[in-house]
Amino acid sequence: MKNNNLPDNAIEITDLTKIYNNNNEEDLIALNSVNLEIPRGSMFGLLGPNGAGKSTFINILAGLTLKTSGQAIVWGFDLDKNPRSVRASLGVVPQEIYVDPFFSPKETLHQQAGMYGVLPKDRNVDFLLKTLDLEDKSNAYTRTLSGGMKRRLLVAKSMVHRPPILILDEPTAGVDIELRKQLWAYIRKLNEHGTTIILTTHYLEEAEELCDTIAIVNHGEIIRCAPTKEILSDADSKNITLILSKDYNDKSIIEKIGGIVDKDGNISISYNPKQETSRDILKKAEEAGLKVNDFSVTGASLETVFLSMTSNK
Ligand code: ADP
Repeated sequence: MKNNNLPDNAIEITDLTKIYNNNNEEDLIALNSVNLEIPRGSMFGLLGPNGAGKSTFINILAGLTLKTSGQAIVWGFDLDKNPRSVRASLGVVPQEIYVDPFFSPKETLHQQAGMYGVLPKDRNVDFLLKTLDLEDKSNAYTRTLSGGMKRRLLVAKSMVHRPPILILDEPTAGVDIELRKQLWAYIRKLNEHGTTIILTTHYLEEAEELCDTIAIVNHGEIIRCAPTKEILSDADSKNITLILSKDYNDKSIIEKIGGIVDKDGNISISYNPKQETSRDILKKAEEAGLKVNDFSVTGASLETVFLSMTSNK
């Protein structure tokens, strides 16, 4: 703790383990002795494929799932000793959208604040409606809100008791790119106001855009936790797809330039952008006798990040 009584870490996790005892089947280790520190004020991403253990982690903190062993300290409070204070320190935005269609956003937020025992004079309903751009719709029926607005209302709902930590579980699953970017902007705004943000995602792009630090989870273990820049430079890999003017059956040419034929019959080549440019690859392809009609370059994917991490070990 610092002098101002705020904890240095919003969350401190030690040896957190969750084993699901499935009847008649083998026990499943969803979290395997996880250690993690999430600094106060950060935008922290838990990144991993489906089934990695992200929701289990969130649900333990939110008090929805019981841990098997280990310790979780949230905003200085021990989950075992002080679960109510832990709960009060967290706002959790669930994956699925459910908002009562017959209440207005304003009523929804006041109702939620009441459930948390926040006195009317202490409520920050107007601030939240403003920050999440729902002011115009404050008194409209919630059922008339667009999908993006409903999601923002869920974020506001999770913040009415002024938790210092906001957790978003797959915030933009099934949300189109435009709405996704909008929601990111609101989340950033909350972070600028001092809220520590933790989000789970299986989109590298989302973690990259939003998070200053990323923990990569796989099979219930944190395989890497580092500033986002470092994680991305681990994955020194880009991909170029060459669209050729005709099919080439001569595999040796394709192998010579380090490519593989993808499912559309195009040639896909991974390269390290620190060592080569896309121009170098195109030159190599043409020198090998391929006639390239068009090409596209994509950045590292979650898969390439994983691959580079496991191959570095
Ligand atoms: P993620 O959120 O990263 O997709 P989860 O935490 O949902 O991962 O799941 C981690 C593992 O735990 C998965 O293998 C999943 O099938 C299993 N699991 C999750 N919830 C339960 C449950 N209630 N009972 C049994 N197994 C579960």
